[in-house]
Amino acid sequence: MTTEVRTTIEISDIIAIELRCRGCNGKQTIRLDKWLVSALRCANCGTSWPIQSVNEHQTLLALANTLSQAAKIEKTPDVPFDVRLELKATAKP
Ligand SMILES: [Zn+2]
Repeated sequence: MTTEVRTTIEISDIIAIELRCRGCNGKQTIRLDKWLVSALRCANCGTSWPIQSVNEHQTLLALANTLSQAAKIEKTPDVPFDVRLELKATAKP
């Protein structure tokens, strides 16, 4: 017998995006509804994260906005399906 384990989440399960500093591994978690920040800086080491003026910041902002809007689909009675996101499987020894 073969079994498959899949992990899925509801869009509304996603509440924030975590940024991890490549310099010090410090983490900063930004709620989806707080992505209007104009300047990002590592809260741990103070390094400026100069992504606010390039496409990466716009991409992350768009992702946060899209996730916020997509979570509303779950509560829309006119939509005849539920949306779940599947997570990448991780190998276990
Ligand atoms: Zn840092």
